[in-house]
Amino acid sequence: MAANFRSIRYSLVIPVFNEEAVLPILLRRLELVLSRLDGPAEAIFVDDGSSDSSSIVLRALATRDPRFRYIGLSRNFGHQVAITAGMDAAQGEAIIVMDADLQDPPEVIEQLIAKWQEGNDVVHARRLSRDGESRFKRATAHLFYRILGRMSSVGIPADVGDFRLIDRKVLDALRQMPEQDRFVRGMIAWLGFRQTEVAFHRLERAAGETKYPLFKMVRLAMNAALGFSDLPLRLAVWCGLTVSGLALLYGGWVILMWLSNDPHLVTGWSSTILVVSLLCGFNMVMTGIVGLYVGRIHAEVKRRPLYVVQTQIGFDRNEAMTAP
Ligand code: UDP
Ligand code: MG
Repeated sequence: MAANFRSIRYSLVIPVFNEEAVLPILLRRLELVLSRLDGPAEAIFVDDGSSDSSSIVLRALATRDPRFRYIGLSRNFGHQVAITAGMDAAQGEAIIVMDADLQDPPEVIEQLIAKWQEGNDVVHARRLSRDGESRFKRATAHLFYRILGRMSSVGIPADVGDFRLIDRKVLDALRQMPEQDRFVRGMIAWLGFRQTEVAFHRLERAAGETKYPLFKMVRLAMNAALGFSDLPLRLAVWCGLTVSGLALLYGGWVILMWLSNDPHLVTGWSSTILVVSLLCGFNMVMTGIVGLYVGRIHAEVKRRPLYVVQTQIGFDRNEAMTAP
């Protein structure tokens, strides 16, 4: 990699969407943390189509102070795309993503860095508590992480948002995943490497309102479920098999009643119900099978790499051995 890349050790990536109310406090706290870090650092603000004064403030800051950088997206692309844009531009050896609203306290960055220096490649910040968030948000978030953990085949850590540190090599691997509907925390869990976590108490938003209304939360949950699990696809097969099984049981029961000359048997009714439910079950199984193929197509179009190599040893030696 180019030599100038390595002159920056830490890159902070901060998505910003109409955060004028928190910016003054954020900048003050950031300055303090940046000055305490043990290497050159940059803070990249990704303006996700803000319509308030955030853009003006951040542009001026990036022009004035070389530690701050500004990326302005042409419209609101959403949080996950904004952090992707920031990470793509990051030059550091360790990249830290955090929210602008101080719910992810900048002071935790130093703990993340300490874990990185111990040799970890990914350090998640796990929320021990969530202050000032509605009971609805806390309950749905709790359920979301539990269900997702069960559905997905990669271990997506619970109660971890996008506040985390990743090593340069993890970022390089992440950039090979061009999928459109992004769920960054799942993608990072999928990548593997040495992962660990640091716990922190998530505070109330320092100022302003949440930029994650219900519909954005639902969209994120859908992306997570569809991108990291094929359980919904397999559901049709199981439903179909259950319905068919029940229909066959019912059929057996009707035959028994008929053999024992049960007077309650209504002529014509049983056979109709039996045929309808059998066909219905058969239909669902077929839909499920089509679903399985769609799942294959889905996996292909995500264009994820097949595998990610962490280390290679002894490859240069082969060349030396065959050399005359
Ligand atoms: N954000 C963004 N684009 C969006 C929504 C949010 O860049 O479309 C940013 C926002 O400015 C903040 C972070 O993503 O820095 C998290 O958003 P927020 O704090 O509103 O989410 P919550 O903490 O309520 O889940
Ligand atoms: Mg927040």
